[in-house]
Amino acid sequence: MHILVTGGAGYIGSHTCVAAYAAGHTITILDNLSNSSPESLNRVEKISGRRPRLVVGDIGDRSVVRSVLDSEKFDAVIHFAGYKAVGESVAKPWEYYQNNVAGTLVLLDELRRHGVRNFIFSSSATVYGNPDPKDLPLKETAPLSALNPYGATKLWLEEIMRAMAAADPAWHFLLLRYFNPVGAHESGLMGEDPAGIPNNLMPYITQVAVGRLKELTIFGNDYPTPDGTGVRDYIHVCDLAEGHVAALAKVADLPGCTAINLGSGSGVSVAQLVASFEKAIGRPLPHRFGPRRPGDAAACYADASKALQLLGWKTKRNSDDMCRDAWNWQSKNPNGYKNA
Ligand code: NAD
Ligand code: UDP
Repeated sequence: MHILVTGGAGYIGSHTCVAAYAAGHTITILDNLSNSSPESLNRVEKISGRRPRLVVGDIGDRSVVRSVLDSEKFDAVIHFAGYKAVGESVAKPWEYYQNNVAGTLVLLDELRRHGVRNFIFSSSATVYGNPDPKDLPLKETAPLSALNPYGATKLWLEEIMRAMAAADPAWHFLLLRYFNPVGAHESGLMGEDPAGIPNNLMPYITQVAVGRLKELTIFGNDYPTPDGTGVRDYIHVCDLAEGHVAALAKVADLPGCTAINLGSGSGVSVAQLVASFEKAIGRPLPHRFGPRRPGDAAACYADASKALQLLGWKTKRNSDDMCRDAWNWQSKNPNGYKNA
């Protein structure tokens, strides 16, 4: 298939390009590089021997989107482009609604004008809000809510796509709800390269291990979980990338709008992940316990059976693989793509 990948220079997008090349697809990327480096595409080329065409532009810029769609014919779109930091979305809600929601509306409008109706959307487990423990593991039918503007952009876009699919049966929307993507390509050539101090657990851990940060604070050890620390469903970014390839293979057979969890289906605590990471690096990771982070759920993990049933996909890599690969990337690229 010929695919348009928005946000393809980013963390999940670049790993997905590698997986899509391995499956024989052809790729064009539309990315404004607001949160990524084109160096990631040099790395894609090193691994795959192929380089996506990169159009540097904004999904909300109608003339750019139109010229991309006029210049090539696409079988499907994978839509990663968007801002993704929860805290920043609270400080800059307008920017989040503008970029994620308004930008996607422009993209969708141009796609329907060009007759491109296979659309795979990066949604998130954040649409489940702060899940009620009785709903765990989370099925796609669990109640939805937004706790912050970032979550609202995902929830609203899902709602918009559901309504568009109900009104026009030509659409095929797959709403892929990612749980906690971590890790890196096993080559150590590609990985997560967050700007500033990381908010997320795994990049924080790897930056402590490489000496860029002093110590990890574990947010809370008094949760009603087996060891008191928060439980999440971590998914290796290469498993997630392969999930997109599985979605590409099935999108034409799935008309309408279908939400699918992409997770491992099992919960891992912060303390367990730290222990796996210490095993990967062969030394203790400096850490201390601090108070709970406001808004955090005690536990959040997927029922991943729908992905297996509809896409024939499930995760293959475990926490040890995630930690080994995240460390391989960070230790080989202590400053991410910056000094490449
Ligand atoms: P990322 O920031 O690494 O990648 C996003 C890419 O989109 C970047 O390359 C950025 O430059 C680009 N971009 C942003 N706004 C754009 C615009 N208006 N026009 C064109 N390009 C634009 O993030 P990621 O971790 O790879 O996440 C990809 C998607 O998956 C996002 O939509 C994110 O919300 C979603 N998601 C991520 C996670 C996670 O933990 N990483 C979890 C759930 C969902
Ligand atoms: N966490 C932590 N210390 C950190 C960052 C995160 O203890 O510096 C915990 C957080 O409380 C949650 C888990 O790690 O239990 C995953 O957090 P992350 O921000 O990576 O993802 P979330 O599930 O919150 O989106």
